[in-house]
Amino acid sequence: MNEIPKIILNSGKEESPKRFHPWIFSGAVKKAPENIKNGDVVEVYSSKDAYLGTGHYQKGSIMVRLFSFNKIVPDVAFWKAKIQNAYNYRQSIGLTNNANTNVYRLVYGEGDGLPGLIIDFYNGTVVIQTHSIGMYRERHLFVEALKEIYGDKLKSVYDKSKESLGVSGTKIPVDSEIESELKNGYLFGTGSEKEVLENGHKFSIDWEEGQKTGFFIDQRENRKLVAQYAPNKKVLDCFCYAGGFSVYALKAGAAEVHSVDSSKAAIKLTDNNINLNFGGAANHTSHVADAFDFLGKNASEYDMMIIDPPAFAKHRDARHQAVMGYRRLNALAIKGIKPGGIIFTFSCSQVVDKYLFHGAITAAAIDAGRNVRIVKYLSHPADHPISIYHPEGEYLKGMILFVE
Ligand code: SAH
Repeated sequence: MNEIPKIILNSGKEESPKRFHPWIFSGAVKKAPENIKNGDVVEVYSSKDAYLGTGHYQKGSIMVRLFSFNKIVPDVAFWKAKIQNAYNYRQSIGLTNNANTNVYRLVYGEGDGLPGLIIDFYNGTVVIQTHSIGMYRERHLFVEALKEIYGDKLKSVYDKSKESLGVSGTKIPVDSEIESELKNGYLFGTGSEKEVLENGHKFSIDWEEGQKTGFFIDQRENRKLVAQYAPNKKVLDCFCYAGGFSVYALKAGAAEVHSVDSSKAAIKLTDNNINLNFGGAANHTSHVADAFDFLGKNASEYDMMIIDPPAFAKHRDARHQAVMGYRRLNALAIKGIKPGGIIFTFSCSQVVDKYLFHGAITAAAIDAGRNVRIVKYLSHPADHPISIYHPEGEYLKGMILFVE
C-alpha cells in the first residue's frame, strides 16, 4: 500500500489540531512534499513527529482540511462510516423518517467532521456539493456509501460542485485538470420526484437550475416561527427565493402575502410553490424587484416582514460594506413597518458574526428612530450542527424584532 504523504507543522502549531480544529493554515506548515497535488490525502504531524490528523491538501490559506484525528485509510468503508454517522445523527433528531418533512441536510461540512462536503436529501434525490478538490475527487465513493445507507430509498445522486468549485464559485484555485472535468450532473439515477414536504408544506425543488443545492433548508425552523406570528397579518417576504416563508405564512392564515425577489427565476419558483399548496386560492402577489427599492416605497403597508438577503460578504475584505448594507436594509424596514410590526431579519454572511450583526441592527433601529424590542435570536437548525471546536461553522444569524 502507498504511504500517505506527510505534512509537518511548525513548532507550537500542533495545539489547534490537538483541539480538533479541522483547518491547518499555510502559515503553520513547515514542510510539505514537493510533488503534492491539490486534493491529495495527507497526514499531518507535529514538529516532534507526533501524528495529528488526516485530511485533504489544497494550496491556499487553508492548506489541509482534516477529516480524521485518528490514523485511518480513507477507503469506501471509512467514508461510509462517516456518512452513516451523519445519517444516524439526523435519525436521532427525527429527520430521516418523518411523515411531514422529507428534506434535510445530511452532511454539513465541518459540523459533521467532513470539511468541504455538503450533502442534502430531497425526498430520494441526494445533492452533493463539494467545496474542496479533495472531496470532489472522492465523490464516487460517497455515491457507493449513500447507496448502502439508503438502499431503495435512494433514487438519484446529483453533483452540483461546478458553482462551489469552479471559477465562478468560491475563490478556490482550481487545477486546470479539474476545471475541464467539472460539470454538474447525475452520478447515479437520472433525477426523480422534485416535490418535497417540509413541515407538511409542499415545495418543488429545482436542484439543477436553482440556487445552492436547490432550496434553503437552513430556514426550516424559522419558517415555522413565521407561521406562528403570521395569522391575520399583511406580510412581506423580501428576498423570497422559492417562497418558503410565504407558503408558511399563507398556510398559517396571513391576511395577505407579498413576495419580492430580484430574480425572475426565483419568482417563478415562488409562484409555482404557492400554486402547489393553494391552487389559485391564495391572497398572494409576487414582484420581481430590488428589495431596497421595494422597501423604500412600500414598507409602510405591512404588519410583518421577512428580510433574508443573500450573503453580503463572502470574504473578510467585504465585511464593512456588508455591515453597512444590513444597516441600510433594516433601517428601511424598521422605519416603514406599521406600529406593532414584527420583523424577521437574517444574515447568512459567515464573516459577519452575531455580535456584528446585532450592532448593524442596533444602528438601523437608531437610524429609524423607533423603539425596537428583540423578541428572539435565531440560528440554523439541528441538521446544520456546529462543532464546538469550529465556531466558524455558525453562519446563519437572525433576530425577531417588535417595532412599536
Ligand atoms: N428566503 C429564501 C432564501 C433567500 S436567498 C428562502 O427561505 O428560501 C436570497 C435571495 O435574494 C435570492 O433568491 C436572490 O435572488 C435574492 N436577491 C439578491 N439580491 C436581491 C435584491 N437586491 N433584491 C431582491 N432580491 C435579491
